[in-house]
Amino acid sequence: MKPKSHLFYQTRSRRPVLAEARGVYMWDVDGKRYLDGSSGAMVSNIGHSNPRVLEAMRRQMEKSTFGYRLHFETEPGERLAAKVAALSPEGMEKVFFVSGGSEAVESAIKLARQYAVTVGQGSRWKVISRNPSYHGSTLGALALTGYAPLADPFLPMMQAMPKIPAPRAYLDGLDMDDQATGAHYAAMLEARIIEEGPETVLAFIQEPVGGASTGALVPPAGYMQAVREICDRHGVLLIHDEVMSGGGRTGKFMAAEHWGVDPDIIAISKGFGAGYAPLGAMIAHDRLIDPVLDAGGFQHGHTYAGNPLACAAGLAVLEEIESGELMGNAARIGALLKARLANLMQRYGFIGDVRGEGLLLAFELVADRQTMQPLPKELNAYVELVELAYEQGLIIYSRRTRGGIDGDHFLVCPPMIVTEGQVDEIIDMLSAALDKFAV
Ligand code: PMP
Repeated sequence: MKPKSHLFYQTRSRRPVLAEARGVYMWDVDGKRYLDGSSGAMVSNIGHSNPRVLEAMRRQMEKSTFGYRLHFETEPGERLAAKVAALSPEGMEKVFFVSGGSEAVESAIKLARQYAVTVGQGSRWKVISRNPSYHGSTLGALALTGYAPLADPFLPMMQAMPKIPAPRAYLDGLDMDDQATGAHYAAMLEARIIEEGPETVLAFIQEPVGGASTGALVPPAGYMQAVREICDRHGVLLIHDEVMSGGGRTGKFMAAEHWGVDPDIIAISKGFGAGYAPLGAMIAHDRLIDPVLDAGGFQHGHTYAGNPLACAAGLAVLEEIESGELMGNAARIGALLKARLANLMQRYGFIGDVRGEGLLLAFELVADRQTMQPLPKELNAYVELVELAYEQGLIIYSRRTRGGIDGDHFLVCPPMIVTEGQVDEIIDMLSAALDKFAV
């Protein structure tokens, strides 16, 4: 029996007590080893206890751990901002630090709104998002989140925002490689902008590769480009929530680079601090930031933003990604892992789809591959399979998909340092869990 806990998060369920973590492995206090097959919540992108990052943090800690951003500039902050700007689309020269994904999204929508007000477009305030989607837990970001069980209880307390369907070609039986598929989903955005009245629409926000709510949803051919054109046509800002997809795990620093599309504003977090420090950033085009700064400043900020310890960690994370060529590894090993997951479809008829980019990968379980009907809700697959994997020593991340109501998907997203041998381990443990699930 574990002693009573005074901590609480979402549920009463208790988890093993973490003792230590190194590379792709974690150990609990009973000595059981786990392969971190989801990098926590797609966070620990360079693995645990990376010596370069620990040393950089130790060195910074001995100098200073906090300098309030309105009192001091810091060297790690300046260096990290320069590095992020260099990794961002052209014209995005300024970086606004925050401490997490929700804060990054809040900052993005508030900058968009303040820009609109500053340039005399105060009628624009609606931010269209997709259903399903996940953009954060704070009330502003939650209003954009297309995940009914999370958002609905709070609707009276926040401004509901328009939603359009996410492009789930695999459910609609459409061909991912056909430009007509991308055009079909993008047209829904244009129709919604027109329905709302373009002069009221501030922005459209999307996850370039979907995360927790959609399970590594990849856009169909032509979709990203068509969305960009539609936004431009109607004077709507395009915001990319790269909180999960950014930071390198898809094989590019920003996932949208795969489609050559630049947004107006980007939110990043998760793999940016990589589990070493709470860190996130909002990056925007200079043409949005400059008028806001010229008009008196951005009316927004968070206390811990840009603290030197977090920035030192972030800088070392980016250096590690560069020197270890980890984005290349994510692309190469990601392709291998995806192929191995797709092979499992031959053995397990209830795997309905395998999808993703680089090491942002997922599979979805279904009752029937032809109709893509979900498994019965009572099977509670999204909890049960994760527990079976846990027993094997493999951590994966699951959610109910389809707007949070039914369907089960599982993210398989090990750190970018994962080796071919460790892919074998993942597949072996996952197969053993699927065997038990199938009986
Ligand atoms: N956006 C996306 C795409 C996310 O995946 C998340 C976290 N799952 C967030 C925003 C919110 O980030 P945080 O939990 O750090 O506030």
